[in-house]
Amino acid sequence: MEYQFTKEFALKADESDPLKEFRKEFVFPQFKGTNCVYFTGNSLGLQAKKARQYANEEFDDWGTFGVEGHVESRRPWLHYHEFFTDSLAKIVGAKKTEVVAMNGLTTNLHLMMASFYRPAGKRVKIVCEGKAFPSDQYALRSQLRFHGLDASNLIEIEPDPITELISEDQVLEVLDTHADEIALVMLGGVNYYTGQLFNLEAITRKGKEIGAMVGWDLAHAAGNVILKLHDWDVDFAAWCGYKYLNSGPGGVSGVFVHEKHHDKPEIPRFEGWWGHDKRTRFVMPEDFVPIPTAEAWQLSNAPVFAMVPLLASLELFDKAGMEALRAKSERLTAYLDFVLAEVKAATGVPVKSLTPTNPVQRGSQISVVVPKVGRKVFDYLSKNGVMADWREPDVIRIAPVPMYNNFEDIFRFGELMIQSLNEIK
Ligand SMILES: *Cc1c(COP(=O)(O)O)cnc(C)c1O
Repeated sequence: MEYQFTKEFALKADESDPLKEFRKEFVFPQFKGTNCVYFTGNSLGLQAKKARQYANEEFDDWGTFGVEGHVESRRPWLHYHEFFTDSLAKIVGAKKTEVVAMNGLTTNLHLMMASFYRPAGKRVKIVCEGKAFPSDQYALRSQLRFHGLDASNLIEIEPDPITELISEDQVLEVLDTHADEIALVMLGGVNYYTGQLFNLEAITRKGKEIGAMVGWDLAHAAGNVILKLHDWDVDFAAWCGYKYLNSGPGGVSGVFVHEKHHDKPEIPRFEGWWGHDKRTRFVMPEDFVPIPTAEAWQLSNAPVFAMVPLLASLELFDKAGMEALRAKSERLTAYLDFVLAEVKAATGVPVKSLTPTNPVQRGSQISVVVPKVGRKVFDYLSKNGVMADWREPDVIRIAPVPMYNNFEDIFRFGELMIQSLNEIK
C-alpha cells in the first residue's frame, strides 16, 4: 500500500479495513463531542459496550438467585472461569487445558515461580531483561530472597545504551555463558518501554537447550502479537487482562502452563480449593488432588464481576481473530512510522522512534522520542484530544490498537504533532 499523509487517504484506508466495524463496539473517552484519539490501549484497553450489559445480567442473576446463582444463573458462577478458556487458548496459541483466567499478573508470576523457579545446586540464577517493568523486578528479587539468595543471582541483560534495545544474540549469548547456572529465564515478550518484541521461539529453544525453565511475561504481548506458546515449548506465561485484552482497570490476568507440567504431583504449587479436582471439591477431602490442567493453579472461586468486561472483549477477539488483528496492526504501525517521517520532514524536528521498524520485532506500540520538547508536545497532544502515554525522560508511547483504532486517528495525531512542533520549537 502506498501511504499518503492526507485525510482523504486515511478515510479511504479505514473504509477498506475489514475490521472497521469493531470500533463501534467500544466506548471512547470524548473530546469536544467526538471520540478522542485513544492510543493507550497498551496501558488500559477500552471498554467493550457489551461489558455493561453483562455486568447488569450478573447483578440481576445475583438478585434473583442468591447463592443458587452458582449453578442457576445464565452463566453459572461455579464455572465462570471456563468461559474464557477457548478464547484465551486461541490468543496465546495454547491447548484449552493449558490456560486459565485468574488473579492479577504479578500474583500469577509469583504462583508460576513457586512451581517453576526451583533453584538447586549450582543452578540458581534467573535471567531477565535490564530495565524490566518494576513489578517484575520486585517479583524476581523477592523470589530470590524467598529462597535465601541475594540479588547477584539475577542476571539482567542490559539494553544497548544508544538504541535502548536488547539484541537477541545478546540474550542467547548470556544463556550460553551461564548455561549451567541458570534455573529460570523470564523476560517480557514485548518490552513495555521500547515496544521491542523478542523472538520468543528462539529464546525459549535456547533456554530449554541449556536445561532452564522458560517463562514469559506477556503483559504487552497477549492480544497484541501472534503467540504459539504450546508449539514453542514455553514452560509458563502470564499476562494482564486490562491492556490489549480490555478487561478493565485491575481486571483479571491469565496464565499458561504447558501440558507437560500438568498432573504431576511432584510439582510444588501454592494450592487452593479451586485447583482441586472438581469431582471431589465439595466433598472437601484433606488431600489436594490437582485438576489435570492449568486450572490446578487456581486458588479461589472466580471473581465474576471482575471478569465480566473480559468476557465482552474476548467475544470480539473470537470474531475478529488474531491473524486479522495482527495484519491490521502491522498496517497501522507502518502508517504511524510513515506519518512520523512526514512530521519530521514538515517541521525539521528530528522526531524518531525507539521501536524497531521490522514488524517481526514489534507489536502495536511505537515509542516516539521528541528531543528536548517531548514533554511540551505530549501536553499539547493531551490538550487537543490525544491520549498517549508519557515515560521519562523523553518518550511518548503511542499504541494504535487494531481492535478499535484507525488510520484517521493516526492522521489526526500527525496533524497535531506538526501544529505543536511549529508552536513550540
Ligand atoms: C502492566 C505490567 C504489569 C502490571 O502488573 P499487575 O500485577 O497487573 O499490576 C507487570 N509487568 C509488566 C511487564 C507490565 O507491563
